[in-house]
Amino acid sequence: MESLKQDLELLYELQIYDIKIDDVRKKVDQAPLLIEEKNEVLFVKKAVVDATRQHFVEMSSLKKEKEALLDSKEKAINKYVLELNTVKSNNVYKALLLEIEKSKADKTVVEDEILELMDRIDGEAVKVKVSEDELKMIENKIKNDIREIELSAKKLEEEIIKIEKEREDHKLKIDKSVLLHYERLRKGRSGQGIALIDQDSCSGCGMALRPQLINQAQKGLDLVFCDNCSRILLKK
Ligand SMILES: [Zn+2]
Repeated sequence: MESLKQDLELLYELQIYDIKIDDVRKKVDQAPLLIEEKNEVLFVKKAVVDATRQHFVEMSSLKKEKEALLDSKEKAINKYVLELNTVKSNNVYKALLLEIEKSKADKTVVEDEILELMDRIDGEAVKVKVSEDELKMIENKIKNDIREIELSAKKLEEEIIKIEKEREDHKLKIDKSVLLHYERLRKGRSGQGIALIDQDSCSGCGMALRPQLINQAQKGLDLVFCDNCSRILLKK
C-alpha cells in the first residue's frame, strides 16, 4: 500500500509545521516575561532615585532645624546683652557674661554644623540630578526595548497564523484516520506524533527498535508504532 507511506510522508511534513508553530509560540510566550524583567529593572532604578531624593529632603530639613536652633541662640544672646544693662548685682552680671560666652560657643558649633550640612546638601543635590538623568535614560531605553519586544511578538503571531494556514492546506492531503492517530499521539510527546526510523532506532525517543517493527514499517502496509514512545514510525 503505497498510499499509507505517502500519507506518512505527508504527516511527517505536517509535523515540521507543528514543530515550527510550537517554536514560534514559545518565543511569543516569552514576551510577557521579558517585559516583566525590563519593568523590574526600572522599578529598582526608581527606588534608588527615590532613596536619593529622600536623603536630600532629610538633610535639608535637618539644616532647617539647625537654623532654627541658631536663631534661638542669637535671640538668647541678645536678651542677655539687654539684661546686662539693667542688672545691679555684680554676681548676676558675671553669671550673665558666662551665659553669653556659653551661648556664643554653642552658636559657633551650630554654625559649623550648618556649613558642613550645606556642603553635604550640595553633594546630595548633584547625586539627585545625576540619578534622575540616569533614570530618564534608562526609562527611555526600557520603553524602546518593550516596544521592540511587543512588536516582535506581534510579528511572530502573524508568522504563526501564516504557518497555521499552510498547515491547514497541507492537512487536507492526508488521510483522516492517520491524521486522527497523529493528533492523539502528539499530546504529551512534545507535540510530535510521528518519528523517523533512524538506522534501527526511533528518532522520537532514541530507543532501539525490533527488526520486525522496522520490517513492517518498511512494507508500509499498516501503521507501526514505537514500543517505547508509541509514536507512528516512518521508514524513509
Ligand atoms: Zn519511540
